[in-house]
Amino acid sequence: MKLKIYNSLSGEKEIFTPIHDNSIGMYVCGPTVYSNVHLGNVRTFMSFDFIYRSLVHLGYKVRYVRNITDAGHLTDDGDVNNDRFVKQSRLEKLEPMEIVQKYTVDFHKVLEVFNLLPPTIEPTATGHILEQIELTQKLIDKGFAYESNGSVYFDVLEYNSRGLNYGELSRRNIDELFANTRDLDGQSEKKNAPDFALWKSASPAHIMRWNSPWGEGFPGWHLECTAMSTKYLGERFDIHGGGMDLKFPHHECEVAQGKACNGVAPVNYWMHANMLTMNGQRMSKSTGNYILPMELVSGSNDFFEKAFHPTIVRFNFMQAHYRSVLDISNDAMVASEKGFQRLMEAMKILFNNDFPNSDVSSFDVGTWKEKCYSALTDDFNSPILIAHLFEAVNFIFKLKDNKETITENDLKDLKVLLNDFVFDVLGLQDIEENNNEKLDQTLQVLIDLRNQARQSKNFELSDQIRDRLLAEGIELKDGREGTSYSIS
Ligand code: AMP
Ligand code: ZN
Repeated sequence: MKLKIYNSLSGEKEIFTPIHDNSIGMYVCGPTVYSNVHLGNVRTFMSFDFIYRSLVHLGYKVRYVRNITDAGHLTDDGDVNNDRFVKQSRLEKLEPMEIVQKYTVDFHKVLEVFNLLPPTIEPTATGHILEQIELTQKLIDKGFAYESNGSVYFDVLEYNSRGLNYGELSRRNIDELFANTRDLDGQSEKKNAPDFALWKSASPAHIMRWNSPWGEGFPGWHLECTAMSTKYLGERFDIHGGGMDLKFPHHECEVAQGKACNGVAPVNYWMHANMLTMNGQRMSKSTGNYILPMELVSGSNDFFEKAFHPTIVRFNFMQAHYRSVLDISNDAMVASEKGFQRLMEAMKILFNNDFPNSDVSSFDVGTWKEKCYSALTDDFNSPILIAHLFEAVNFIFKLKDNKETITENDLKDLKVLLNDFVFDVLGLQDIEENNNEKLDQTLQVLIDLRNQARQSKNFELSDQIRDRLLAEGIELKDGREGTSYSIS
């Protein structure tokens, strides 16, 4: 079955052909680590986690690069005082690199909670300043960039005059760009309004700055992704992803930088994930319309009636295609929770029961498998895949009531496939299993404390622990191997 991917560049679904046989290079723009990631950010990273998991499941070897933007991301392109890291470090009275560390740790923690796999390389912008200086120099040498007051800008008109097309990814034309570029501070340094910064000069008052051939300064945001993707994936690689809102100017600039530098389009397939909305509005820090991931998981927020386990959030996100807008709401989350519980119940029935052997299956596992893979390979259509999984779920409930039959081989296949799709590909987790693990760990702590009490002859406390657990239906049993427990 051929994999089809919607390519933002062509605006069409295309058959996916990797550059090198089975090995894929995939680059996804990472977070700007100057504040906590909101749930919208998590959706985009989860969309690409699902895509990564799917590619691996389909047999590809994936080099998955996701960067950390820890320098150079201005709130607008003109004013160096709008450096997000410098602003936040003033606000929190921390060093900019303390800000970077604090929110990188938060980012990793949050992604782990939602069961996202780490990328295979996670480079940082500050770790690649030299590469960015080299790229800037190369663009100047080739005549695509110019220096002005210690800053360096990409010359968009020059780029277009050589038969290239700035705006090809976001489908904007150059006149429109001239008309729509705001007159910002620093623009007087540019030849033309749509030109974008490769290097920004910074005064000693600006804390995050590095030496360069053009004086002290820092690299522009668009340049870091070109520098890091080229370094780890080459001048031309297979897949580049990011949220829809990054298409312009960020990704447009990456295309221009890559083509100008190396004479080839840097990316074969551009993939853009759609936005998470709340109350119909895009989730965003700047408008205040956002929820932090841990607020949803803990239940401490004003939008949802209760707390939701991270895997329910993941299931809810997976129920929408990555290219569709998803509106998160209390009702949708409650419905997802119900659906997920039914899915898990079916899995338990399937794995914990012996079904009578039958010569015939009343469920065509082969055709069902094909339908699942055709959803997965049709531009990673998770909602259709989930709909197919529920056909199997309905069958399993009937199988339990002896209303359906299955052969031994089909049963084996069904188990493997469901396990793969649910846990490996969709990245869902069995809540009960996790809870059992936690309960086990908690009881081990109590058993240790009781043993310590007994050793220090505090029998009053040790008996109290035993009796109170017993009152809750948990019996401790002392044996030669140590203490075990049983739950009634
Ligand atoms: P940032 O840290 O601002 O660069 O954003 C990190 C990622 O989150 C980018 O790929 C954005 O496109 C994405 N993003 C931002 N807001 C949303 C949203 N409301 N829904 C989905 N993705 C978003
Ligand atoms: Zn990027």
